[in-house]
Amino acid sequence: MSIIGKMQDWPLTVNKVIEHAKINYPRQRVITRTVEGPIVEKTYSEIYDRSKQVSNALKGDGIKKEDRVATLAWNGCRHMETWFGAMGIGAVLHTINPRLHPDQIAWIANDAEDKVLFVDLTFLPLIEAVKDKFETVERFVIYCDPENMPATELKNAIAYELYIDGQSQECVWGDFDETTPCGLCYTSGTTGNPKGVLYSHRSNVLHTLMTGMTDALGISIHDRVLPIVPMFHANAWGLTFACPAIGAEMVMPGPAMDGASIYEMLTKYKVTISAAVPTVWLMLLQHLEQNDLQLPDLTRVVIGGSAVPERILRTFQDKYGVEVGHAWGMTETSPLGTIGSLTPEQKALDYDSQITAKLKQGRPPFGVEMKIVDDEGKDLPRDGETSGHLLVRGMAVVDTYYKGAGGDGGSVLDEDGWFDTGDVANLDDQGFMQITDRSKDVIKSGGEWISSIDIENFAVGHDKVANAAAIGIYHPKWDERPLLIVQLHEGQTATKEEILKQLEGKIAKWWTPDDVAFVDAIPLGATGKINKLALREQFKDYKLPTY
Ligand code: AMP
Repeated sequence: MSIIGKMQDWPLTVNKVIEHAKINYPRQRVITRTVEGPIVEKTYSEIYDRSKQVSNALKGDGIKKEDRVATLAWNGCRHMETWFGAMGIGAVLHTINPRLHPDQIAWIANDAEDKVLFVDLTFLPLIEAVKDKFETVERFVIYCDPENMPATELKNAIAYELYIDGQSQECVWGDFDETTPCGLCYTSGTTGNPKGVLYSHRSNVLHTLMTGMTDALGISIHDRVLPIVPMFHANAWGLTFACPAIGAEMVMPGPAMDGASIYEMLTKYKVTISAAVPTVWLMLLQHLEQNDLQLPDLTRVVIGGSAVPERILRTFQDKYGVEVGHAWGMTETSPLGTIGSLTPEQKALDYDSQITAKLKQGRPPFGVEMKIVDDEGKDLPRDGETSGHLLVRGMAVVDTYYKGAGGDGGSVLDEDGWFDTGDVANLDDQGFMQITDRSKDVIKSGGEWISSIDIENFAVGHDKVANAAAIGIYHPKWDERPLLIVQLHEGQTATKEEILKQLEGKIAKWWTPDDVAFVDAIPLGATGKINKLALREQFKDYKLPTY
């Protein structure tokens, strides 16, 4: 006779996170710089109550379990209330990246079949421009109070405060299985259209426990945390759940991401921990240096999304006494995959050796497994030198993309359950991982992807262009910016301006290549695909005019 464990079946649903905060940290606050201007404070208790009002407003609009509810918004407490309000009733909260081209935003909302779209005032013009392209959205909720509600023709548009006003704070939450989906976030489309990652309640709760470990994000109830990383980019690295779970206070930057505004929030609210991509830190460090400022309260920054440059690491630690945690992750890994907390062995090394260790992407917390393999899928040694394709497996790692994208309708894992990250890395005998290359060809600018394929496809639409390739070129501020390499049809001549004009209005403005280089022939690989490796080699010393 088989027996089963005799412990309680306590479903891992994310509503329990904010319920825990309501009961145990009712007076801890979330402080938000709003789009309208004022800085607003809400306690976890108030956020819980207002989230319930969101749930009832959504239910009033007919939203049920598994329906998709989208947001196009900065980090802020209203955004947070919408997350918990939608997820609590089993709806799927879909964060859309506002930095995408408006056509892509509409495409993603249609693919997700979003029914309600919550939007910050900032992004109103963006979606009004493509309002007729939204096929499934029945209601637009604008994050503002009725006094600040602008005139708009968006379908059933209503001010957020009016939408939730008078709604009951009683609502049953979590009345479903822990495998119910609760979040949806699209990856950038490196091959074709973007793919949706559909997080479950269970995976998000487990990810919350994982990020809450001391050697992971290292947050405590004594911390005040500023998530600069957007909630629409891989769940603000889990902070929207981890902070209320732990009781840490949050400081939300809203739309103001420049060095001066971030510095103001950091110092005014005595922030102890913050998280962002390297580009943001570069802006902050410049601001500090130019104005001879210090960071008396900040103890730790988590940096990820792109590799941390040594200068940022050393400046934070040596000049400002702020410890750097270098993290790696992906939308597909919820996102935390590794973090560079040092081992006792490494801590005993001299300072420069510790820096070398910290420049690696770090080691996986419990719940993430990693290995590297060669082109044939054979395991490679963990010697800290051999590079291979990085594969991951774990309790918060994607199995199948939304609607089966990219996997012929099914799982995208190999037969042993491993997910190929598309990164090339080495691993050492203490689990430290170091990214050495990227097998994907997207360009990463300011922590956000630019799809080279999109740029190329539109460029070759020009009738003088025979072939085109976009590659990332090092840029001191944005990490990478696109260079468009063009091969013209025989006998043709063209100018840079002429080619860039072809892209105008088709791609987001910030995707526009910083330069165009003309070549006689674009190198092709064995299967007829553009050989990007050869191009990167050819242009490795190229200096962009915007450098
Ligand atoms: P995303 O899904 O947009 O967060 O992008 C995930 C990708 O960003 C990874 O597959 C890596 O290529 C890259 N990435 C994330 N963190 C790091 C890091 N610390 N160092 C280098 N690349 C990183």
